This record gives sequence, structure tokens and C-alpha cells, in this order.
Amino acid sequence: MNLHEYQGKEMLKSYGVAIQEGIVADTVEEAVDAYNKIKEASGSKFAVVKAQIHAGGRGKGGGVKLAKSEEDIREHAGNILGMMLKTPQTPGGLNGPGKLVSKILIAEDAYVPDFDACKEYYVSVLMDRERKCNVIIYSTEGGMDIEAVAEKTPHLVHKEYIDPTLGLQPFQSRKIAFNLGLSGKAMKEMVRFISSLYKAFVGSDASLFEINPCMHNGNDEIVAVDCKVTLDDNALYRHPDLAAQRDTKEEDPTEVEAKEHGLNYVNLDGNVGCMVNGAGLAMATMDIIKLSGGEPANFLDVGGTADAARVEQAFRIILKDPKVKAILINIFGGIVRCDRVAQGVVDAYKNMGNINVPIIVRLQGTNADLAKTIIDESGLAVHSAILLKEAAELVSQVLED
Ligand code: GDP
Ligand code: MN
Repeated sequence: MNLHEYQGKEMLKSYGVAIQEGIVADTVEEAVDAYNKIKEASGSKFAVVKAQIHAGGRGKGGGVKLAKSEEDIREHAGNILGMMLKTPQTPGGLNGPGKLVSKILIAEDAYVPDFDACKEYYVSVLMDRERKCNVIIYSTEGGMDIEAVAEKTPHLVHKEYIDPTLGLQPFQSRKIAFNLGLSGKAMKEMVRFISSLYKAFVGSDASLFEINPCMHNGNDEIVAVDCKVTLDDNALYRHPDLAAQRDTKEEDPTEVEAKEHGLNYVNLDGNVGCMVNGAGLAMATMDIIKLSGGEPANFLDVGGTADAARVEQAFRIILKDPKVKAILINIFGGIVRCDRVAQGVVDAYKNMGNINVPIIVRLQGTNADLAKTIIDESGLAVHSAILLKEAAELVSQVLED
């Protein structure tokens, strides 16, 4: 689950991370109120208007604007609220439809005393799967083009790996501050920033923090100006306050619907839909699809109880994707009996009545033979297989047809 910038900042602040303060607004009037409060607190007439959507690169798309007066705030808030913001990270990129902006953050101007006195660093925390530990990635070259920095000057991007049994050690925070070229007050501030940031990462069960820019302002303060936070869905039960901040409007609607039905669904770009029980088998099935010349259109784990109602729901979800040219159902009958799944597939198929893509069903395990008979005798355009190899061959056949 992703947090909006304003939600992520509040969470970071609760762990003692210094942030660019701001107030969220839904309307131009709220934005003006927020601006006046911020002006009073910061003593500056400058403030920024920032679109709140689950995508980075907002600045490049016109979703972040500096305002120098109440008139500016009215203008920018009016333009940004309700706009379809296109960034390199919104669906379809800059050529896509963009994302509707329904909230903005009015934030204090973090670039004090002026833009030229400030430096933008990059700091992120995530899991390194190869090394099986968390890593802090950081660079002096923060700001809006970190992707280009990583590509053209990778030596300017540093990594600090954290031993999971020891946690982040004080010398590591000092090393990061030192490598960023800091000394004196700024060095101390950065050490504190990194250690509270890491506490927040572990404490919130996050899988990604990206602070870009991490600002070194003219007063030698270190401040999170932007933040992208991804939380581990499997640990959300430990954080009801964070879970309550989920914004389903920002998520793929089909994935949200699938979740409501207890189906584990992730939309992908390919042409073969899959319906599988168990995440491991689902991964293997996606490999098989690739080996037989297709591309998986989705990941879908129907879980242990693959009855007719669930199979039907899964069909509906898969068929919402117009790219799907065939569906491969791969079920291992361990807890569930294959003949029940087969009956479920046949019933769901008849019930829905509008399935016009070929379906390949591979059932293995308890009563697999009986299941094959049920499918073969159903008279429907469903191909059955018992071996995975047969299923794979059928997939490549129907894709050729
Ligand atoms: P992103 O484009 O989605 O990553 O949004 P950011 O929050 O990183 O903001 C993008 C850019 O807007 C930053 O790199 C800055 O150049 C600018 N910006 C953000 N906050 C401020 C601010 O307080 N003052 C000024 N002058 N510029 C800001
Ligand atoms: Mn940013």
C-alpha cells in the first residue's frame, strides 16, 4: 500500500524526522486558509502547492508550483485541483490519460533563505533482496533527475547495507553524512535524520521510503521535502492507523475489486490470463506461459477454496482486461478436490455465458481424472490437461490459432 506525500510526512514526523510542514486541502478556499496559517507559522509569503497523487515526477508535469501571494495560491490551487496530472510515473506515462488530482498539499517554502543556498540530496530505504537486508541508498545529486544520475553517473549513488541483527549503527549514519560532504551542524542534523528515518522505516513495516529531495537548507537543517512511502500489506494489521489511510481511488480498480473478494490479483501487461491456487504455483504458471510463447496478463491466486462462486468471480476479474486472449486455469487439488473445481469452472462458464476466449484447464491432484471427464463432457470450449507440459502446449496452440 502506498501513502500520499502528506500522509507519509505525518508518519515520518511522528518518528522525529524533520519535514517540510504543510496542510492538505480539497478546495481553493481550504488552500487559502492553509496558506494563511502557513504564512503565519513560517513568517514567509512563499509556499508551494503540491498535487497529491500516488506517482512521482509531479514537478515535471506541472503538479508542484511555488506561490508568492494569496493570489498565486488561488491560481495554482484552482489549476491543480481537478487536473489530470501526467507524469512519467502515471499510467501510460506522459502519453497516458494522467491521474485526477483531488487533494493538494500547501507546504511551507523549504528552500530557505533562497533556492541557491540549498542543496538537494537523495535518500531512500528499501530491501535488498539479494543481500537479504535493508539498504539505504543516497546521493548528493538529488532533485528531479535521480534516474538519470543513476544511469549516467552511478558512482555518485552510494549504498549502506544494514545488518538485520544489529540494526542501523551510529557509525553508518555518520558515514552517510560524511559521504554527502557534510560537517558541523549539518553533519549532526543528517545523522539524526538518517537514524530517525530508519526507525520510521522499521517501525512502520515499510518496504520503501524515498526522500527526494532531502533538503540541506541554508540554515544547515536537513528536511524531507518530498516522500514516497510504500508499506508492506502483510504487516498492515499491525498498523490500523496507517491502514485506514489507504486511498483506493489511487489503486487499480480491478485489483481493489479482487481484494474485496479475497482474491490475490495483480494486473500485468500480457495476453494470457491465469487462475491458480497458491502463490508459488501462480509464479510457476507464469513461467510456463512465458516458455510457451505467451505473456501473463495477470497474477491471480484464488486461494484454497476454488468453488464455483470463486471461480466465477475470478473469471469476471480476468475478463475485465481486454488484452486477455486465453485463460489458463492451473489448480492443484490438495485441500480442494479437482472434480469440485472442474464443476465450478463448468458452472461459472455457463453462468457467465459471454466467455469468448479459449480456456485451458489443468487440474492435478485428488480426483484429477474425474475432473478431466467433467470438463471433456461439458461440451464447452474448454481444453483440459493433467500435465503442465500439455497445458503449456495447449496455450501455445490457442495463441497461434
Ligand atoms: P516530485 O516532482 O513528484 O518528485 O515532487 P517534489 O516534492 O520532489 O517537488 C518537485 C520539485 O519542486 C522539487 O525538486 C523542487 O525543485 C520544487 N519544490 C518543492 N518544494 C519546494 C519549495 O518548498 N520551494 C521551492 N522553491 N521549490 C520547491
Ligand atoms: Mn520528489
